[in-house]
Amino acid sequence: MTRKSKPKKARRIRSFNLDDDAIDKMEKMAQEDGVNRSEWVNRLIHTEDAGRRLKRDVAKGIQTTLEVHTMDAEHRAARKDGKCNPRSVNGRCKTCWGDE
Ligand SMILES: [Zn+2]
Repeated sequence: MTRKSKPKKARRIRSFNLDDDAIDKMEKMAQEDGVNRSEWVNRLIHTEDAGRRLKRDVAKGIQTTLEVHTMDAEHRAARKDGKCNPRSVNGRCKTCWGDE
């Protein structure tokens, strides 16, 4: 699968309350991942959503991303390129990196 540059989705401001500990953790994790907080929260939500869809697919017996990728969605979400680690112990992911 080749990585296409998607047009950036429109974003809207949402306000919510976090405790100090959560804010500290979020800022630390966003910095570690090299993204701003908005991007980090977006990824978190999309990762959670993907995890829930995956669970539903597993429950229904539908083929899942876990069967196709060499690493799980959480791993990919934590990476800047959003792909499985090409040097994964599980081998190079064909879904992320193609057949070469
Ligand atoms: Zn993959």
